[in-house]
Amino acid sequence: MAFEGLADRLQSTIKKITGKGKVSEQDVKEMTREVRLALLEADVNYKVVKDLIKNIKERAVGQEVMESLTPGQQVIKVVKEELTALMGGEQSKIAVADRGPTVIMMVGLQGAGKTTTSGKLANLLRKKHNRNPLLVACDVYRPAAIQQLETLGRQLDMAVFSMGEEANPVDIAKNALEKAKEDHHDYVIIDTAGRLHVDNELMGELQQIKAEVQPHEIYLVVDSMTGQDAINVAESFNEQLDITGVILTKLDGDTRGGAALSIKAVTDKPIKFAGMGEKLDELEAFHPDRMASRILG
Ligand code: GDP
Repeated sequence: MAFEGLADRLQSTIKKITGKGKVSEQDVKEMTREVRLALLEADVNYKVVKDLIKNIKERAVGQEVMESLTPGQQVIKVVKEELTALMGGEQSKIAVADRGPTVIMMVGLQGAGKTTTSGKLANLLRKKHNRNPLLVACDVYRPAAIQQLETLGRQLDMAVFSMGEEANPVDIAKNALEKAKEDHHDYVIIDTAGRLHVDNELMGELQQIKAEVQPHEIYLVVDSMTGQDAINVAESFNEQLDITGVILTKLDGDTRGGAALSIKAVTDKPIKFAGMGEKLDELEAFHPDRMASRILG
């Protein structure tokens, strides 16, 4: 599981301060220094760490007194609240269209987990929200991407719309939307193509699909193992497409995870879901407060 290293370090830092009946400025200074190192070591972006530590210091020193908590516990509460805010505060919901199907566009680099996550999201929408999604195969470039989505569709017993590898992705998306209306699907999940690196041609195509189908959500699928590069990728996709949310994949791996946690701070877009394994039911709604509790113990 990701964040194990971070969790270990933060928990041992916190242990030192929990029981304190009195917390001096020196205590806060030492604790923030250790928290700072733990975050940097976990690969959280240094600018993000700097802001976070500043907030913790300001709040922990000039703290309002709560009688139910020891001063040590109050300092920890501040750390937890700041970590939660860093990851996005309250978890935000999936948009719902006023009329017709809700359209979700999945974007990201090749290998990030878009196709798998499209299947997982469709599965979650059906199981948890009683929805009837249509999966759409718009990745006409990666060999066997269409087949992969069709196989997922069969496993899930879920409709998949495709027009083969020769069709234009914008046309596929447009026709899929018509089909979804005809067949009364309430969600349309469009699996788009990725590249190994962000490039203009890819962005141009994604912008055209966006203009054509006017999606209610554009989810950027990010591999949490990719480190600081994930931040640059997120910034580019957000600049070009104005994404509405992020899905972190492979959080079940032993990634340090800190880069992924910096994405919210850098793009100001919420992390909506987390992929916790390869299986189709291993996608979870991302709750910043629960994740902060998990990390801080
Ligand atoms: P795409 O190129 O973005 O469509 O990526 P794929 O959906 O083909 O995924 C690439 C690989 O990552 C596949 O082997 C997936 O099974 C794997 N994968 C996707 N999400 C997760 C996850 O949350 N955890 C793990 N362990 N593997 C994942």
